[in-house]
Amino acid sequence: MNLKKIDHVGIAVNDLTHAEAVWRDALGFREVRRETIASEGVRVVCLEANGHHVELLEALGPDSPVAKFLAKRGEGIHHIAVAVDDLESHVAHLKAQGVALINEEPRTGVGGNRIVFVHPKSTNGVLVELTEKGSDHG
Ligand code: ZN
Repeated sequence: MNLKKIDHVGIAVNDLTHAEAVWRDALGFREVRRETIASEGVRVVCLEANGHHVELLEALGPDSPVAKFLAKRGEGIHHIAVAVDDLESHVAHLKAQGVALINEEPRTGVGGNRIVFVHPKSTNGVLVELTEKGSDHG
C-alpha cells in the first residue's frame, strides 16, 4: 500500500465557463487540461496552483452522475482524489477492510488515468477517487 498524496479536489459546477473564469482569473489558478469524458458524463477543466490541483466538473447531461450530485446537493466539493501507484492492491485492501466501492473495475478518468471510486457511505460522506497515472501524461 502506497498512498502518495492528495492528487486533486473535484468541484461540481453548474456553469463551467463561469466557474473557470473565477478560479483562473480571480483566484489565480492556471489551466493545465481541458477534457470531455463522455463515459463519465462530464466536461472537466483541470487547474493548478503551485503543484496543487483542482478539477472543475460540469455535467454533460441530466443522466450524468455530476448532474445528479448537483440536483441533490448543489455546487461544491464533489470528490477528493488520492494518487496511488498500484490501484489493484488498494482495491483489494479496501475490499478486505469492508469498504464499499462504487466501481471495482478501474474506469478511465482525466488524462487517461485509471480511477476507482470509494462509496461516500464508507468514507464519512466524502466521495474518494483513487487515481493511478495513465499513459497520457507528459
Ligand atoms: Zn477527479
